[in-house]
Amino acid sequence: MADTPPPRRRRPATELVHGGTLRSQFGEMSEALFLTQGFAYDDAEAAEARFKGESPGFIYSRFSNPTVFMFEERMRLLEGAAAARATASGMAAVTASLLCMLKAGDHVVAAKALFSSCLYVVEDLLPRFGVASTLVDGTDLDQWRDAVRPNTKAFFLESPTNPTLEVIDIAAVADIAHAAGARLVVDNVFATAILQSPIELGADVVVYSATKHIDGQGRVLGGIILSADEAYVTDHLHNFLRQTGPSLSPFNAWVLLKGLETLEIRVQRQTATAARVADVIAAHPKVSKLIYPGRADHPQAAVIARQMKGGSTLIAFEVDGGKEAAFRVASALEIIKISNNLGDAKSLITHPSTTTHQRLSEEARLGFGITQGMLRLSIGLEDPDDLIEDISLALDKA
Ligand SMILES: *Cc1c(COP(=O)(O)O)cnc(C)c1O
Repeated sequence: MADTPPPRRRRPATELVHGGTLRSQFGEMSEALFLTQGFAYDDAEAAEARFKGESPGFIYSRFSNPTVFMFEERMRLLEGAAAARATASGMAAVTASLLCMLKAGDHVVAAKALFSSCLYVVEDLLPRFGVASTLVDGTDLDQWRDAVRPNTKAFFLESPTNPTLEVIDIAAVADIAHAAGARLVVDNVFATAILQSPIELGADVVVYSATKHIDGQGRVLGGIILSADEAYVTDHLHNFLRQTGPSLSPFNAWVLLKGLETLEIRVQRQTATAARVADVIAAHPKVSKLIYPGRADHPQAAVIARQMKGGSTLIAFEVDGGKEAAFRVASALEIIKISNNLGDAKSLITHPSTTTHQRLSEEARLGFGITQGMLRLSIGLEDPDDLIEDISLALDKA
């Protein structure tokens, strides 16, 4: 056969609007919502052939549905992945991405600065089934190297981290994982596919909570797992999801498809606003520390310049006066709401040590850099000047 050029990879904004669209016989413009459990076959032979995998088509929505498929395809094209599978939540994605490929006797290395439910999966759940885990300071490459054992099968990290916005060198950790014969799984929620492409940096698997920027409007839970190689999905993930059923509802997939259409413009606008708000917060006399991946004073600024296409939609900062001062700031805000979601159109603030990270001991929290005065701010789509006024007035009351 004559050489055919590889299909052109379209730019993110175009994939986000058109990628993966399937049209029914009616030619609808907006993606159709196939709110159906199953599918009818023309005859018994057709059912047999489909179950045998001899003819293409959908069988049962626990493992394949046209609306869910459109969401998976759109994300796959955006990410430049070989395969994608959607899940009911971000935590279902994280859990399935690891459990599907691990067995008793295996070992996992993970960066310790993890979303607290991810920490539960690695630290508590996996060891109950005979999978040992080692937690390392993700920014220290020697710790990753030293943690490797002959049975290490997976590396897991999140970058930037929640809530301290530390940045881990994904390409360097991928090299260490591959030298050890392990797969690197990256939770890319904080960066989004717009600001960071872990597969291009060498990651094998990328997971998202679609609940965050992908929906971006606080409506539904969802998750997705994307793989650089087809084999991970065909050998491990597909069967795990098909048989255990942490499936994404077609309704939620439809909401997420609509969210994706505006993902790039939302993330760009939220990042631009966050950069301005971060500078204002950093300059306030009541603020002792500010961490924002877009600033030159970020501890991993050099890694950020190499691996990220922009700062972040999130800001972490510390006010003088501990918990009482942090509570006064949060409670004085009028536009910015107190809530633990992130990546939302509405700006949201959380006090990690009494909410998302309250399960941990004070000692463990301090080990992650989470002090009593720390607040995490997720920037939304409001006018930047209104947000600056809101946060400045609240900080005056710290
Ligand atoms: C929210 C979040 C998750 C979990 O996602 P859910 O959709 O809430 O299950 C996992 N990792 C990170 C970094 C998150 O922010």
